[in-house]
Amino acid sequence: MYLFEQEAESISMNTDFILLATRAVNQAILANESEIESLDREIGDGDHFINIKRGCATIVAMHDELAGLAPDAALQKIGMKLLSTIGGASGPLIGSFFMAMAKAVKEQGAETLPQIASSFAAGVEAIKHRGKADVGEKTMLDVLIPVSHTFSRLAAEGFERAELFEVLKREAEQGMLSTRDMVATKGRAAFLGARAIGHIDPGARTSQVIISTICDLAAAK
Ligand code: ADP
Ligand code: MG
Repeated sequence: MYLFEQEAESISMNTDFILLATRAVNQAILANESEIESLDREIGDGDHFINIKRGCATIVAMHDELAGLAPDAALQKIGMKLLSTIGGASGPLIGSFFMAMAKAVKEQGAETLPQIASSFAAGVEAIKHRGKADVGEKTMLDVLIPVSHTFSRLAAEGFERAELFEVLKREAEQGMLSTRDMVATKGRAAFLGARAIGHIDPGARTSQVIISTICDLAAAK
């Protein structure tokens, strides 16, 4: 069975792949519990891991309900659910990511890498808009924005798939590490001023874990 179906230059983000990704992401988040939890304890309020874990568990439990849906409908349902289950600052942001991505997939399909990159970019734009934040503010966007830009560029260039996802993993890692030396201007960490320097942003770390997990799946298919 092909999950991320590829012909000569086409690739499809189907619902089977989305479901596979939800299970893999759930496992990856659980495997990084202590680190993610301690990052939000250092510069936040310590709930980020619990928030994300609750979101992941809820989506994994929706497997049967999602399985019969088209990819855009599955993404929309995931977004709506995450909006109400994750909580914190990150719940509405992640929920809006999925809903904007769903809308883009519905409008333009997800059969090619440029289409998938474009729907990912729509999701990231929604986070920027909702969070009124951009790169350099010590948030999840320091991972998501550079990954999205690189994804769109490499997809347009027709980069070889396995290599493309390797590059995206490295980009996510760099973005996550870049938050260590930043002062936060958004979110709870902004109250710490210079005291946030030296600590990686928890949302950047979870974003990097999620992207890395999905890149591994997509590259293997
Ligand atoms: P809370 O901050 O309400 O406790 P979480 O702990 O779940 O919520 O999430 C914190 C993460 O949310 C931060 O590490 C950061 O990456 C992200 N975040 C916070 N505010 C914003 C924002 N305005 N834009 C983008 N991301 C943000
Ligand atoms: Mg928190």
